[in-house]
Amino acid sequence: MRDPRYNKGLAFTEKERDAHYLRGLLPPVVLSQELQEKKMMNLIRQYEVPLHRYIAMIGLQETNERLFYKLLIDNVEELLPVVYTPTVGEACQKYGSIFKHSQGLYISLKEKGKILETLKNWPKRTVQVIVVTDGERILGLGDLGCQGMGIPVGKLALYTALGGVRPSLCLPITIDVGTNNEKLLNDEFYIGLRQKRATGKEYDELLQEFMYAVKQNYGEKVLIQFEDFANHNAFELLARYSSSHLVFNDDIQGTAAVVLAGLLSALRLLGGTLADHTFLFLGAGEAGTGIADLIALEISEQNGKPIEENRKNIWLVDSKGLIVSSRKESLQDFKKPWAHEHEPITGLINAVKAIKPTILIGTSGVGKQFTKEIVEDMASFNKTPLIMALSNPTSQAECTAEEAYTWSEGRAIFASGSPFDPFEYEGKTFVPGQANNAYIFPGFGLGVIMAGSIRVHNGMLLAASKALASQVTEEHYEKGMIYPPLTNIRKISANIAAEVAAKAYELGLASHLPQPEDLVESAEKCMYSPVYRSYL
Ligand code: NAP
Ligand code: MN
Repeated sequence: MRDPRYNKGLAFTEKERDAHYLRGLLPPVVLSQELQEKKMMNLIRQYEVPLHRYIAMIGLQETNERLFYKLLIDNVEELLPVVYTPTVGEACQKYGSIFKHSQGLYISLKEKGKILETLKNWPKRTVQVIVVTDGERILGLGDLGCQGMGIPVGKLALYTALGGVRPSLCLPITIDVGTNNEKLLNDEFYIGLRQKRATGKEYDELLQEFMYAVKQNYGEKVLIQFEDFANHNAFELLARYSSSHLVFNDDIQGTAAVVLAGLLSALRLLGGTLADHTFLFLGAGEAGTGIADLIALEISEQNGKPIEENRKNIWLVDSKGLIVSSRKESLQDFKKPWAHEHEPITGLINAVKAIKPTILIGTSGVGKQFTKEIVEDMASFNKTPLIMALSNPTSQAECTAEEAYTWSEGRAIFASGSPFDPFEYEGKTFVPGQANNAYIFPGFGLGVIMAGSIRVHNGMLLAASKALASQVTEEHYEKGMIYPPLTNIRKISANIAAEVAAKAYELGLASHLPQPEDLVESAEKCMYSPVYRSYL
């Protein structure tokens, strides 16, 4: 009863109560799991403050794990915003004040030289997925230091609920190298190191010790997902460890795969192939360049031309304007491939007029940048303009669904990072797509684990994108949707997992042999079920 992995609360049967000396420790009634679920949902819906809902969910996770996952699985659309973005953001900001029980592993500068020992303190010997953050760029909220822990905890809850990875195989980790967030440094309830962020050699050495210790302790097949690192570390960590570890960065690669899936499915409405389109991004960071890279790679797979060639139709704007070759010297490495020949341009509107994109994607983190004039321009030279306003949270979206549909007179296809309600325009209801990373990473991770893959390969990202795009049906297209509804996410994840695993086998990266005949069936079979077990 005191162990959340075994506890069933009032659902312990008469026989179980006798067999395990529980008689009298519970009131006489025996409830079904369904009734417990109904009761918890009623309770959660009574909380009007989103953070209270979050606290209630975490409380459930800490007392009755199976009931927690049953709620999450059966009510995905309602509870995703509670255990993940946007509410998890507020939870991280206040993590110190609401902290009751420790939920993951903390590795701070104090553990330098002892990281392997620290990993061994985690009660589970076998781990398949680690989600790790250093808390420097939590969602769109910036540096939350050690309180970023809410993110790995939330992401792993989705690994289990949406991808079916067993909770006991998941390990949330926060690396604490300090924080530059003055507010937290002065907060008496802050849970992390009270110092400025370590950088340079000190940072690199801690991360290296961590990466080596993980491999030594858990072997080759543990998936390490980097989450919410600032871009000055994210690209380097991914590049440095992708040839020696099974690493995945959701902000770069997961975002890329989910957006590419939306583009592939949108082609059925737009017509043509990816190579026929011209892309313009506002924002050239982890999300923007990650998506751009994967688009160019997919085009190369399709037309066989070198990737450099296919990058030419993809343009990015950063805080200094259009990325062009004359700026090359001063650009960060991850922007250099996008510095095309063009005269310098400042201002998104001028870039739109000069490049005449067919697809406009916002990944700057700055809201309200897709103005009426910009959307009208897009609609003037495109029959069906595709507009993706990906910046989170909702207040930072480049434009709203309503704006995209009305300014384009109902012709735009619109998708966003944060959810928008369906919108009615001149008698027709448009359902905006949500390019939520939760579509991809749980299924992607499951596929990698199923195959026992030892590396992540770009081909596996492309496979995941195509698997997601193939789940969109005619019925969805009629409403303007380019993503399937999240309600069927477990089925979607199983399909993604199967395609990712198939790719791992094809590339010779899989270690679980022989390859199962039916990968979808085998994905579904290995998924965690939250239904109570019998303890007789
Ligand atoms: P990032 O690495 O910090 O990149 C931000 C980029 O935007 C940088 O290139 C920056 O320019 C540029 N920028 C900032 N202000 C600008 C302005 N006023 N005009 C033009 N460009 C500007 O951040 P990220 O990780 O890519 O995330 C960016 C946004 O995408 C966030 O809001 C995030 O929530 C969202 N996102 C959405 C999804 C999704 O929908 N599934 C997934 C991931 C991220 P400089 O390089 O010049 O500083
Ligand atoms: Mn993230």
